[in-house]
Amino acid sequence: MATDVVEKSGSAGEPAEFNMLANARAYFEAAADRLGLNQNIKDILQRTERELMVNIPVNMDDGSVQVFEGYRVQHNSARGPYKGGIRYHPQVSMDEVRALAALMTWKCSVADIPYGGGKGGITCEPADLSTRELEQLTRNFVRAIRPIIGPRTDIPAPDVNTNATVMAWIVDEYSSLEGQAVPEIVTGKPILMGGSLGRREATGYGVARTALEVLSLLGRSPEATTVAVQGFGNVGSWAAERLYRAGCKIIAISDVSGGYFNPEGFDIDDVMRYQETSPRGLLQGYPDCSQKITNEELLSLEVNMLIPAALENQLHSGNAGEVKAEIIVEGANGPTTLLADKILYERGTIIVPDILANAGGVTVSYFEWVQNLYGFAWEFDDVINKMDSKMVTNLKNVWEMSQDEDISLREAAFTIAIKRVVESMKLRNSGYTAM
Ligand code: NAD
Repeated sequence: MATDVVEKSGSAGEPAEFNMLANARAYFEAAADRLGLNQNIKDILQRTERELMVNIPVNMDDGSVQVFEGYRVQHNSARGPYKGGIRYHPQVSMDEVRALAALMTWKCSVADIPYGGGKGGITCEPADLSTRELEQLTRNFVRAIRPIIGPRTDIPAPDVNTNATVMAWIVDEYSSLEGQAVPEIVTGKPILMGGSLGRREATGYGVARTALEVLSLLGRSPEATTVAVQGFGNVGSWAAERLYRAGCKIIAISDVSGGYFNPEGFDIDDVMRYQETSPRGLLQGYPDCSQKITNEELLSLEVNMLIPAALENQLHSGNAGEVKAEIIVEGANGPTTLLADKILYERGTIIVPDILANAGGVTVSYFEWVQNLYGFAWEFDDVINKMDSKMVTNLKNVWEMSQDEDISLREAAFTIAIKRVVESMKLRNSGYTAM
C-alpha cells in the first residue's frame, strides 16, 4: 500500500513531523476528500503506473566492479508524458522516488503544463565517484531504463547531485542508442546542446514573480516590503535579485555559512558579484553586513516576506510560532512541515506553497522541450515572459479558490492539481466517469 510506502521513508531517527513524503500524502488525502473522490480513484492515484528497478554495474577506477541500484518511477500520465528529475544520493530508495514522482504529478498539474509526474534516482554517493565512474554509471543507467523513457513518454531532468553535464551524457547515450539526435530526451541540458536560455534563473525568477503578484493582490508595494531569503543558492539568489530589482528591501540572506542581516537592505548585485569569486560560492566574509545571524534567527526576523529557499523542514512546530513574516513564499521543496503549516495558517500567515511557487523551473523545462521538438531557440526575455504569464495565471487561480472556499493556498493548489488529473483520467477512460 502507498501508505506504508510513505511512512517508511525518511531518515532514521528524524521526527515523524519531518517526513516530507508523509506530509505530501496528507495534503493529497485532504484535497481528495474535499473533491469527494471515491476510494477507487484514490487507490489509483496513491499507486504509481510503472516502476523499474535496475542494477547497474560500473567498472571502478581501482579495477573492481560495483553494482548500483537505480530507479525510474512513473506515477501518472493522464496529462502527458512523465516528467521529473534524476537524483544521485545515498538515501535514494524506491519509496522516496515513488513519493517524489507523485509530487511531480501535482506540480506539473498546478503549473498547467502538459506533463504527468515521474522521478528517478541512483543510490550512490557521487562525491566518492570519479568523473569517469559517474559518466559510466549514468550511461549504463540510460541503457537500463531506455525501454521506458523517451521524448514522448518520459523526460528526465537534473535533481539533487545531477546537473547539465549529466544531462549531456544522457543525451549522448540515448542518441547513440536511437541512432539519431534526440536532445529532447532530457531538459536542463547545457545551452550549447539545446538547453534553454532562462532555465538557470527560472525557479528563482518564478518565485519572485509569484511573490510580486501576491503583493499586488494584497495592494502592497514592493518598495514597502522587507524580505528575508534563506538559502542564497540557485533559487534564493535569483529570487532575491528579481525582488531587489522590483524595489523590495532584502534585509537578510543566508547560506550554509550562516545568516547575514542588513536593516538598510543588501545591494544584491554586489552580493552576487562577491559570491562569484568567494570560496565555494559562499557568502562567508561578505563585508557589507551589519550583523551576522544564524539561519534559525533569520526565520523569525521582523520582515514582511520570508523566502525559504534552502532545505526541507526549516519551518516546523518548534519554530513556527516565532515566525513574524506575514507572507511566506516557498522556494525550496517542502520547507514547511504539516504541523507548522497548520500553526501558520491559523495565525493568518499567507503561505504560497512549493508546488505553485517554485514551478518556474519545470515550466521552463517544458519550454526547453518544446523548443527542442520544433528546433527553435527562444530569446531570454521571451522565455521569462512566457513563464511569468503562466506563474501569474496559476497563482490567480489558486488564490481565487482559496478565497472562495476559505482554505489555504496549499489546500487550493493540491485541490486544483488533483482535480485536473482526475478530469483528464475521466476524459481518457469512460470507465472512470462514474468514480
Ligand atoms: P543550491 O544548492 O543551489 O542552493 C541551496 C542553498 O542553501 C545554498 O546557498 C546552500 O549554502 C544553502 N544551504 C544549505 N544548507 C543550509 C542550511 N543548513 N541552512 C541554510 N542554508 C543552507 O540548491 P537550489 O537549486 O537553489 O535548491 C534549493 C531548494 O529549491 C531545494 O529544496 C530544491 O529542491 C528546490 N528547488 C530547486 C529547483 C531548481 O530549479 N534549482 C526547482 C524546484 C525546487
